[in-house]
Order: sequence, then C-alpha cells, then structure tokens
Amino acid sequence: MSVNINQNYLKLNESYLFSEIARRIRVWQQEHPELADKLIRMGIGDVTRPLPKTVVEAMVKASREMGEAETFRGYGPEQGYDFLKEAIQKYYGRFGVDLRQDEIFISDGAKSDLGNILDLFDKDNSVVVTDPVYPVYVDTNMMDGRKIIYAMSSEENGFLPLPKNEYRADIIYLCSPNNPTGAVYDREGLTKWVEFARAHGSIILFDAAYECFIVDDYPHSIYEIPGAREVAIEFCSLSKKAGFTGTRCGYTIVPDTLERDGGNLNKMWLRRQTTKFNGVSYITQRGAEAVFTEAGEKEIEENISYYRENARILTDTMDKLGIYYTGGKNSPYVWLKCPGDMDSWDFFDKLLQEACVVGTPGAGFGKSGEKFLRLTAFSTHEKTKEAMERFEKLISGLKMDQIQGV
Ligand code: PLP
Repeated sequence: MSVNINQNYLKLNESYLFSEIARRIRVWQQEHPELADKLIRMGIGDVTRPLPKTVVEAMVKASREMGEAETFRGYGPEQGYDFLKEAIQKYYGRFGVDLRQDEIFISDGAKSDLGNILDLFDKDNSVVVTDPVYPVYVDTNMMDGRKIIYAMSSEENGFLPLPKNEYRADIIYLCSPNNPTGAVYDREGLTKWVEFARAHGSIILFDAAYECFIVDDYPHSIYEIPGAREVAIEFCSLSKKAGFTGTRCGYTIVPDTLERDGGNLNKMWLRRQTTKFNGVSYITQRGAEAVFTEAGEKEIEENISYYRENARILTDTMDKLGIYYTGGKNSPYVWLKCPGDMDSWDFFDKLLQEACVVGTPGAGFGKSGEKFLRLTAFSTHEKTKEAMERFEKLISGLKMDQIQGV
C-alpha cells in the first residue's frame, strides 16, 4: 500500500522567474563586487512605504484589548468581523456598488483566496487566463489538472484582450489594473467580458488588487458593470493599497446572486471558509478597518501618491525615449517594449550589466511578454530617478550602437 500523490504537482513549471533573476544578480555581483552598491532594484513587487500611523495605532489598541480579560477575543467569525465588512461595504458604495455584508468575506490576502476559490469548481472545468499573466492563476489550476486557454495580448490590443469564441471557458481570470502590464479595462471592455460570461455561463474571477491606483475614470470593481453580479467573484487586497503585504488582509466578494449547477456560490464559499479557515486575526482586522477611516485614507493616499510619482518618472522617461509601454498612470507597473527588438532576458542582462538596474523580464509572465520588461513604482524617488537617468543613457548608447552597426 502506498500513498498516491497529486501528480499535477510534478508537472508544474519550476517557479523560476524570481530565482533566476536572483541567480543572475548573484553572478553579476561576483563578477563586479565594486558595483554592488550601485544596484537599483526596479523589479520589486513589494511595497516599501511603512504602514500608516492610523493603522498601527488601531492595531496597538487592539493588541491591548487582547491582553485584558474584559476585551479579550478568541475565535472570531471565519468570514470576518462586521465592523470591517461594514467599512468595505461603504467603500464599494462610493463606486455605486451595493453589497450585502454577507457577500463580503475577509481573507488573509488575495493570493490565498484566488487559489482556495477553486475548491468550488470541478476539475474538469476549462480556464481562460490573459497572457501575460500573474502566475498564481496558472499554477493553482495546474495543481488541479485543469485545461488552460491563453488569451494572448500584445501592442495591437493594448495588452487588454477581449473575448473571442475560442476563449469560451468555464472560468475566466481578469486582472485590472493588470499585473504585470499595468493595463486597465474600461467599462466597455469589461462589459464585453461580462456579456460573454453571461452568454456562456462562465464565471469571471476578477482580481482588483490594484484598484486603488486608478485615477482616471475606470471601473474599480467589476460590479460596476451591469449583470456582473450573476457572473463574477471579486478578489481584493490591502497589500498594495495600505502596505499590508506583511500584515496580510484582503477580501473576496461572492454575490448571493451567483448560482451554477444547482449551487449557490456564496453559500458554498461560506461553507468552505467555515470549514477550512479560522479567520484573520482581530488585531489585523482592526488595522484593516482603520484603512477605511478618514485619517487612514489620507495617509494611504500620501503613500500611493508617492508611488504614483515614481510611476510618472518611469512613464516620462519612456515618453521621452519614444518607447512603447502600458501602465504607469493607473497602476504601479510600467510594461515596456524592449528597445531594439531585444528579447526580455537579453534586455534584462543589458540593463543589469550596463546600468546596474534590475527589471523583471516579461517572458516570466508568459509568451506575450517575450519582448517586454516590467518596471515597478515601489522604489524611492531618488532611486527611481537615478535608474531612469541610467536607463536613458543606456538607450542613447544602444541607439548609437545600432547606428554604428549599420
Ligand atoms: N493579485 C495580484 C495581481 C498580485 O499582483 C498580487 C501580489 O503581488 C496578489 C494578487 C496577491 O495579493 P496579496 O498580498 O493580498 O496576497
């Protein structure tokens, strides 16, 4: 007798992108120890600004409550405390989205729920992801052995693929503003996906992790689109919004109106969560509640503005150099076309070796990324400026090389 393992794990691609980046940096550092302190990391996907004071104070207060018999709390509701759900409900109200509190589920971040939600779906379902893609969507489905269809994107569609007949699938992942491309769907684009899902009985898993970066008139939530309540589940996170990458809190919206195959997905998700999850800590949820207060929002806006300014420095440089890119304005990511038709890893190496700047090669996010590089706005102003000055010099040199080469 022996245990049968989930063979799908053996078929997963090595999660190779960030380890390969780290390896190439190590090799470069060994070859150029004198340049070690010149390195600027523009590939960081993690925030760098600390938690807002209001959030910290709320968590300190909550910690004290936990230390007193009168205010101590043990297990909380698996789906989150009402005080936080109410704050989120009000936040959605600003976009004209009416949610019931029992449609909001507090999570320890978007990544876990993006994976966990698949518990509700049969392994035979087919899946569409847009390419380039946040790798979690692909790997979590590969673990279950689902068939994955890639909706390719490119300069032609502005990295915002729209539905086509061949993308008919049971589950459709959309991420807007997108990681890695920073591209954002407008109402018209999202409406096409919602109508497509309604026509085919699909479910859209909508990742809104970067909605807080939107400044222009784009939907923050898929539920701003009429008819989305019958086809979509939405995932959101306080990671990038409020610096919660290490603190861990997010939320998932499963409308009560979402029914498939004799099941109500809201009730199924509640059953799943109450069985397999024991909730986010009280202290964290009090910190999360503070995110939505007036003082919290003001402090958060300062942090987000800081990253926005970095994004502006990045896009100004691309505009000046005439380089095609998406993202930047409504997103912390700038997705740029590698100059001189270079492959993304070649350009990564060139940028590292000649400018001591680290980006993320687009190829790591899928085939559509092979000639692209992702830069992020999560560094400091000083480093971002310095990186872009070096980038400019590099590109000017590259142009000269090309001229010399002719
Ligand atoms: N979704 C996208 C598109 C992301 O880029 C990330 C994190 O980088 C996440 C979800 C994960 O968010 P969380 O930190 O809430 O798990």
